[in-house]
Amino acid sequence: MKRPFDTKIKTEKELKTLQLDELKWTVNHVYNGSAYYRKKLEEAGVTPGDIKALEDIRKLPFTTSKDLQEDYPFPLRSVPFEKIVRIHASSGTTGKRKVLCYTAKDVDDWAEMFARCYSYADCTIEDRIQIAVGYGVWTAGWGFQNGCERFGAMSIPIGPGNTDMQCQFLEDFGTTVMTCTASMGLLMAELIDERGLRGKIELKKMIFGSERASDAMRMRISELSGVRYDQLFDIPGMTELYGPGTGLDCRHHTGIHYWADYYILEILNPDTLEPVPEGEVGEMVVTTLKKEASPLIRYRTRDLTRLMPGECPCGSIMPRHDRILGRSDDMFIFRAVNIYPSHIDQILSNIKEVGSEYQIILYRKDTGGKDHMKIKVERAQGLQHSHDSDKYIRKAIEKEIKKQILISCDVEIENYGSLPRSERKTKRVFDNRD
Ligand code: ZN
Repeated sequence: MKRPFDTKIKTEKELKTLQLDELKWTVNHVYNGSAYYRKKLEEAGVTPGDIKALEDIRKLPFTTSKDLQEDYPFPLRSVPFEKIVRIHASSGTTGKRKVLCYTAKDVDDWAEMFARCYSYADCTIEDRIQIAVGYGVWTAGWGFQNGCERFGAMSIPIGPGNTDMQCQFLEDFGTTVMTCTASMGLLMAELIDERGLRGKIELKKMIFGSERASDAMRMRISELSGVRYDQLFDIPGMTELYGPGTGLDCRHHTGIHYWADYYILEILNPDTLEPVPEGEVGEMVVTTLKKEASPLIRYRTRDLTRLMPGECPCGSIMPRHDRILGRSDDMFIFRAVNIYPSHIDQILSNIKEVGSEYQIILYRKDTGGKDHMKIKVERAQGLQHSHDSDKYIRKAIEKEIKKQILISCDVEIENYGSLPRSERKTKRVFDNRD
């Protein structure tokens, strides 16, 4: 299937050749353009000449958010200031804030990547795209806006919030695509339902940025707004890597196609920093291939995901990763297995008889004895307590955990609403092993 703004690359071999060429360019560029990077490379004992094959990426040192802090206010800058046309920053306190520089070509490359996202979401130039994300020093609004203009659809740059105006624009301007966070998507869907706008508006797609939408949330948004479930898309993005627009799940939703002609994605075990086998969860580590102003060399994102095996029915050559499954900082080790609470979260969310709250308790029966894990869950709202259904829930959880994480656990089932809730991040892992 031909899509505008798609890569011209036809085979995996071609992709690898391009990646190697651009990797060589990038290493050479940072070595000569940034004193900070040169020092890092020298300390690691690598010179640009050492990059002869794609595997040589593993010789390169890692970059982390600490490097962005140390080299503040213009970290990793690899071009002279006269080449920089824009900066963006993430939210955060001074010194903690991540600041990234862009050359005119960086801005242009980003728009191309983002236009490809609209293309993968099957948008056309007839579309009217209501951009309800923030405009400012952060990347969101600019990314969606420039991408939309490059793509050629009509943009409606309204920004977030102001739901009355959002509804009015949906009605008056015939908006067909809405881009926002998933929470805002839910809020809009509720308003569309409440105000009886379904049937009066032309809304056909939603593209969610910066926040992971669970399947249950998507289902709800689709029901209330009348937008088809398969027309809800997820766009990943982080400031360090241009911003939003570096990939998108196509309408088959088999994972997020990522733009491998712009960056190399490694999935590594966050403990050993060695690659994990294909399909296993690990930390996303990215190396940019074309970025001029603030290139990334093996940047540790701390985000967890896995590569999706096989091909997508859409026929795209662009590889896919799963949705972001959590943060590597949350990992714990149980019986020599690295476990991410988010993985357990994902397993539980596929079992409809349990609620969304849970606790993971790690303990030992005797000092120095084996580790045990107990997972506390709640029966789903409205589900009556019965011996048979509890037994079924317990078995279903134990079986899935065994199958997906290869460990045994005990399951305790409580009434709906009995586990503590918090508006901030709820504590879920209780390690009582000492
Ligand atoms: Zn696809």
